[in-house]
Amino acid sequence: MRISDRLARIKPSATLAVNAKAQELKAQGREIVSLAVGQPDFGTPPHVCDAAKQALDEGFTRYTPVPGIPELREAVAGYYDRFYGAKAEGANTIISNGGKQVLYNLLMALINPGDEVLIPSPYWVSYPAMVQLAEGVSVFVPTTPDQHFLVSVDDLEQLRTDRTRVLILNSPSNPTGCCYTQAQLDDIAAWARQHDVFIISDEVYDRLVYDPATPASLSKLWEAHPESIAIVGALSKSFCMTGWRVGYALAHEELVKAMVRIQGQSTSNINSVTQKAALAALSGSWDILDDMKKAFVRRRDMAYDIIVNGWGATCPKPDGAFYLFPVLKQFYTPETPDSASMCTRILEQAGVALVPGSAFGDDDCIRFSYAVDDDVLRSALDKVGKVLTGK
Ligand code: PLP
Repeated sequence: MRISDRLARIKPSATLAVNAKAQELKAQGREIVSLAVGQPDFGTPPHVCDAAKQALDEGFTRYTPVPGIPELREAVAGYYDRFYGAKAEGANTIISNGGKQVLYNLLMALINPGDEVLIPSPYWVSYPAMVQLAEGVSVFVPTTPDQHFLVSVDDLEQLRTDRTRVLILNSPSNPTGCCYTQAQLDDIAAWARQHDVFIISDEVYDRLVYDPATPASLSKLWEAHPESIAIVGALSKSFCMTGWRVGYALAHEELVKAMVRIQGQSTSNINSVTQKAALAALSGSWDILDDMKKAFVRRRDMAYDIIVNGWGATCPKPDGAFYLFPVLKQFYTPETPDSASMCTRILEQAGVALVPGSAFGDDDCIRFSYAVDDDVLRSALDKVGKVLTGK
């Protein structure tokens, strides 16, 4: 088989090895708990499911316009007005298959071969692969736990060149859960504008921000400078709709049209039934978020206490999403010298699946998801603690 050179450059996902090992152990009858999950452990709200059932009953099963049905695009525009006071038209939005396809469309629409894309590191796994598929060059901006894994304007300026075209910001962050404040985002946006660097602001976790922190977004600034920012959103995390595949962008109309050209020649519209469900989500009750946030705060605090006070690990306390990203390199050994081998050891000895930090560009750390039941989380962390500390 001859597979394209383009694909040869794409690294296989570093999470695959741990997943394969977890499957192997499960097949042997071992009980495996996964703290590697990237989705809430809550169900999609009933009124959203009902809207999908109704769409099916009404035969809403045909092609729709590529960027989505007009009422859903209006609802997405309304979302940014409701939460951030940003005024937009439906024409400034596109509905895609998850935040993932939005990001892919954006990079394909913005990047020419050789263009540099600044990516704060640690980063979400798919950014560098997507940049590569768009024939761009990822330039990683390193951060430390001391700075809560957040970049400053100085950090960015050090790595800016005359080829820098795009900066990808992600707040709240996967894998760290850390969040920029509105003032930090605004400072970075001012720097980017001054140097003609386009910002893709990945805000797919924006509803999952915990008191006293408040959700920050570049959508209000987008209204003033629509040619220099695009916002990525999704219902995957906030409405527990990961499998439905619904994400959206807020962008300049010209950029939306470019994304529609890409999407129109690749996947066309997203699933018609999902669009009706998404409309019900955006225009109905948001109560599900209150319960979910209470549970996430409780679990975050419990896990943070065990990891930081129990194991003595360094870990910035995250304000959002459902991940913790502690530094665990002090527990690495000659036999398990990196995050991947340490995750394999934890899986074998404790029966707990985690994601190695190397997948996110930081081999000193390991990612823990707390999107699991409280008791499961506590017992899994106890087992991991025994492997790491021997206690
Ligand atoms: N951006 C970040 C930071 C994510 O963590 C994810 C999913 O894990 C996505 C984008 C993609 O989300 P979706 O499932 O909506 O495609």
